Amino acid sequence: MHTSQYYRLPWTLNDNVLGWLEPTKKCNIYCDGCYSTNEANSHKSLDQVRQDLDVFVARRKVDSISIAGGDPLTHPRIVDIVAMIRRDYGLKPVVNTNGHAMTPQLLAELKAAGLHGVTFHVDSSQSRPGWKKKSNLELNELRLHFARMVEAVGGLTCAFNSTVFRHTMHEVPAMLRWAQEHIDIVHSMVFILFRTARSNEFDYYAHDRRVGVDELVYWDQQDNPDPLTTPELFELIRKEEPEFDAAAYLGGTRDPDSFKWTLVSRVGTRDRIYGYAGPRFMELVQTTHHAVAGRYLAYADPRLLRMGRSTMAAFAAVDEGMRKALRRWSRDVARAPWSAAKRLHLQSIAFIQPIDMMPDGEANMCDGCPDMTVHEGELVWSCRLDELKRHGTFLHCVPKSRPVPEAR
Ligand code: SF4
Repeated sequence: MHTSQYYRLPWTLNDNVLGWLEPTKKCNIYCDGCYSTNEANSHKSLDQVRQDLDVFVARRKVDSISIAGGDPLTHPRIVDIVAMIRRDYGLKPVVNTNGHAMTPQLLAELKAAGLHGVTFHVDSSQSRPGWKKKSNLELNELRLHFARMVEAVGGLTCAFNSTVFRHTMHEVPAMLRWAQEHIDIVHSMVFILFRTARSNEFDYYAHDRRVGVDELVYWDQQDNPDPLTTPELFELIRKEEPEFDAAAYLGGTRDPDSFKWTLVSRVGTRDRIYGYAGPRFMELVQTTHHAVAGRYLAYADPRLLRMGRSTMAAFAAVDEGMRKALRRWSRDVARAPWSAAKRLHLQSIAFIQPIDMMPDGEANMCDGCPDMTVHEGELVWSCRLDELKRHGTFLHCVPKSRPVPEAR
């Protein structure tokens, strides 16, 4: 797996797909590996939310706003926030939630306010009432409950996020099979590779002050020795599904050949995946959308995702992955003509590999980070917001073999 095989997503700091809005830092459950502190009295006022949105539209082109946190459903004005994003800024609001507070009534209200979709964070690291100590496969029952709730309201995208640890990575192939079995109502799966503090190898500093591991939000390396990488996960998935392949990626700021964001787009039915889109598909989707709408595409409309057959046919001339999928589907139809009546769906799978540490202690961030948030009027990496809030600066790392740095 090498980056030269894939389309490098064109997202940059000021021309991107997403903005990451945090209207609150309050959460109603606890997840191991969360990079955010849970702050009870942290709801922003609607005026403060508007100020953050003003920064986004002034500093970067975006298609969608991820409303995150904390858990955004704990915010008493969440419906107004969704309405503001849609009505006043013309952007697609997508709620990123653990789903604990989601009800069919609230979802219907959010939809009426202009919600575009929901991303549910569900995984086995959560201390979720009623679901503690469940494996990721047992949690598929909860995922299905949420997917059906979204389907019942209609017209919304439905995505699932999961943090992947070394001790849970073996569940990923089965989670992908589950996603395929529900390809008609599950539009996207996102796997976030667990980010670990590397305190065995590096010392952490805020300016010239040494920061203890207990002052970091995320776990210590002692608990999770080797950081996971996306190519490692692909190798595992390909043992079951040899054709599994990506279309596009975002490299790193220090290592452009690292897979910081990796996007897979596949076409199939609940019974069979016919193929995986290649780089030309993603390039044409992104550049055409930008040429027509003036911004790159985030979260395709669910009505388009139901048009797997015509999408496959339209792109087969230019994209090798779609061509293969069309050939396979045509063979199936020749053998069993009634299968032509089955609807084909598109489903996307994303892998996010957060901060890697280079041997010299420099952080390798996502180059063209989609999840920038606003802090004191500036765009900052949302995965490192807590460093600023706790220490007033981004932390820097020094390899243990190096002398202590001079004060900056
Ligand atoms: S740099 Fe951090 S906030 Fe940005 S996309 Fe990567 S992990 Fe997310």
